[in-house]
Amino acid sequence: MKECEDPNCPFHGHLKVRNFKMVGMVVSTKMRHTATVRVDYVKRVPKYERLEKRRSKIHAHVPYCMHVEEGDIVEISSCRKLSKTVSFVVTKILKKGGNEE
Ligand SMILES: [Zn+2]
Repeated sequence: MKECEDPNCPFHGHLKVRNFKMVGMVVSTKMRHTATVRVDYVKRVPKYERLEKRRSKIHAHVPYCMHVEEGDIVEISSCRKLSKTVSFVVTKILKKGGNEE
């Protein structure tokens, strides 16, 4: 693999990540070095004492040394704001998606 020249790489660059991590599925990799990650979570509704499913889409920076595809399960970590919508960085690929869904 080529040398990683990404200044915003948490492993080879200068980017510091914060200790807030989330796990989600990559739904789009159409942007350059950025992936859209869908995060599912549950929220308690006190009034009805039930849980409701919620999901949000988060834009995350993909370091040059990482190759992420749609359908992959990734771990994203909070970092400083890299652009208007990007304040997360992909730090780990937990599972390769394989076939597209
Ligand atoms: Zn790197």
